[in-house]
Amino acid sequence: MNADDLAFDQRHIWHPYTSMTTPLPVYPVARAEGCELTLTSGERLVDGMSSWWAAIHGYGHPQIGAAMKAQIDTLPHVMFGGLTHAPAVDLCRKLVAMTPAPLECVFLADSGSVAVEVAMKMALQYWQARGESRRRFLTFRHGYHGDTFGAMSVCDPDNAMHALWQGYLPENLFAPAPRSRFDGEWDERDMAGFARLMAACRREIAAVILEPIVQGAGGMRFYHPEWLRRIRKMCDREGILLIADEIATGFGRTGRLFACEHAGIAPDILCLGKALTGGTMTLSATLTSRRVAETISNGEAGCFMHGPTFMGNPLACAAASASLSLLESGEWRRQVAAIEAQLRAELAPAGEAGRVAEVRVLGAIGVVETTHPVNMAALQRFFVAQGVWLRPFGRLIYLMPPYIISPAQLRRLTRAVNDAVRNDAFFTV
Ligand SMILES: *Cc1c(COP(=O)(O)O)cnc(C)c1O
Repeated sequence: MNADDLAFDQRHIWHPYTSMTTPLPVYPVARAEGCELTLTSGERLVDGMSSWWAAIHGYGHPQIGAAMKAQIDTLPHVMFGGLTHAPAVDLCRKLVAMTPAPLECVFLADSGSVAVEVAMKMALQYWQARGESRRRFLTFRHGYHGDTFGAMSVCDPDNAMHALWQGYLPENLFAPAPRSRFDGEWDERDMAGFARLMAACRREIAAVILEPIVQGAGGMRFYHPEWLRRIRKMCDREGILLIADEIATGFGRTGRLFACEHAGIAPDILCLGKALTGGTMTLSATLTSRRVAETISNGEAGCFMHGPTFMGNPLACAAASASLSLLESGEWRRQVAAIEAQLRAELAPAGEAGRVAEVRVLGAIGVVETTHPVNMAALQRFFVAQGVWLRPFGRLIYLMPPYIISPAQLRRLTRAVNDAVRNDAFFTV
């Protein structure tokens, strides 16, 4: 990558949520190994993002790499209509075994957003097949479920700028975001708004959709497990489906294999993505119960109406299967617990800084919420100079490192965060 390549990038290539008139700087990366990214300049950065929750085993894991290399030589891709292959069967067998009991029918798709679309379509087809017109989804404010239209329609209406898409987005129901904190007291009043919406619209609601325990991109908030138990009960009483979007929380990130386990509940439909392939390939899965799957299949359409071109891509399935095998050793439990303890100890001092509203930690997730929005470009430059890769946004500086991170590497990340929050230059006041 030379200066010319960088100039081309800035002029012609969109990055996530960027502008073509005022592009933000991008850093050219040459390789990634373990917990380190190496820039083309030779600078090495400790990765605190796991490439957005995905690279849980770090980069270049030899077992995942070997599985992918073997797969590339035999069958990197083939259509999934009318054909099947061992990588898909191996993967789905593992997914069915590791998720809660009622979930046993798997739909493989390409990205998290599509897994959410698939979940929403499943819920709509389920009610269609039962001869009831239920077209609405109930969710929380401050949620994030992806960038496609169905997914956007259940994202926080302000963050996702619903006003921009008025008349085009389906209008769903938004309850106030949970206020009872994960490790705080359960406040009965917290349920009032949600319960009111549920009661008022009970015959219209196809499903409740939520991110269990951790609201991710919509604010990095951790809420009380009692919420999930209550919602599970309410859904059961009304026959409403419960969709758990564990695209961010799945595969150990919160200290449990799936965040629903904090409450001991199982959803009717489960969305998985991000860490599914250990951060190597794009792949997602939507699982549902036999009851829901059979109801859909006996409906008017006679099938589930979805089938992406690259469905069940063998290369991605082989990577995912290898990643899940690594989780089977159970080593991640000790790793995530150690990261949690270290984040708690080392981020605590940041809570004293004047510009910090709150520090919170759950599993291998550390969040420093600031009182003012950060100047992302300036802060990013500072972090790179400190030898770390973090990508703050809005009023959030957050860490979700690969589970294999060493204590020394993690210390480097937490030190950079502690230094950053004490410098007023990084905040837009
Ligand atoms: C990232 C994310 C999605 C969307 O996944 P993509 O792969 O980016 O489409 C959906 N739900 C949650 C909870 C996520 O964190």
